Amino acid sequence: MKLMLLGPPGAGKGTQAKRLEDAYNIIQLSTGDMLRAEVASGSDLGKEAKEVMESGALVSDELVIGIISSRIDQDDCQKGFILDGFPRTTPQAEALDVMFADKGMTLDSVIEMKVDDDAMVERITGRYTCSECGAGYHDSFQKPKVDGTCDKCGGTEFTRRADDNAETVRSRLEAYHEQTAPIILYYGDKGVLKSIDGMAGIDEVTAQLKEVIG
Ligand code: ADP
Ligand code: ADP
Ligand code: ZN
Repeated sequence: MKLMLLGPPGAGKGTQAKRLEDAYNIIQLSTGDMLRAEVASGSDLGKEAKEVMESGALVSDELVIGIISSRIDQDDCQKGFILDGFPRTTPQAEALDVMFADKGMTLDSVIEMKVDDDAMVERITGRYTCSECGAGYHDSFQKPKVDGTCDKCGGTEFTRRADDNAETVRSRLEAYHEQTAPIILYYGDKGVLKSIDGMAGIDEVTAQLKEVIG
């Protein structure tokens, strides 16, 4: 199964992609995570992406298309995946079509997570992640069961993203509306688009996703 989650920063794509990984035995492909791994490794690619990411703008189409194209060729992707954060521009969506055609793959569902921009600032500024296993949390909306201890792995170290601050969120939301929102129409025209209410609680959003995925 090949799924795509669309929505602005903070919509809940990463949170839900992790749940869908387990539910459908497919893997999350987050270009944001891939780019952060490149930045952390200090690779040339990471050096190119770092400043752009910290400013809240999008990195070049060429760079992310290259990353995702080689990633979906790997063995662990053959049974299926969830695209989280890609595509983010019309040229990326077009390049994905070409990639899928070349590889003989088809997209099962494209799901738009509809949310209010105003709520995204609080979601993003409260977001943090387990350094050990990558599980996602929120200061108010998704706290670990035991304060300071990861539910999944028991880890006690957590990280916050450099770009998860109130000023950068505004630029990221702007980039979303200018560059990414047009691709919702692109998939709408193809007849594969479904929408869900991303403002509902986390469990309720998962239930809606499973409903539309079928
Ligand atoms: P995205 O990947 O779309 O940027 P995330 O999944 O990382 O978004 O979610 C952003 C933050 O909001 C996280 O801290 C997460 O715990 C929290 N969150 C996700 N979904 C919801 C929801 N439905 N209601 C409240 N908070 C949520
Ligand atoms: P979020 O879903 O919270 O906005 P991501 O982790 O998906 O964040 O992305 C973080 C940053 O990585 C983006 O602001 C952008 O700079 C870069 N990025 C991730 N995916 C793409 C993409 N497909 N195209 C261009 N830039 C990307
Ligand atoms: Zn953990």
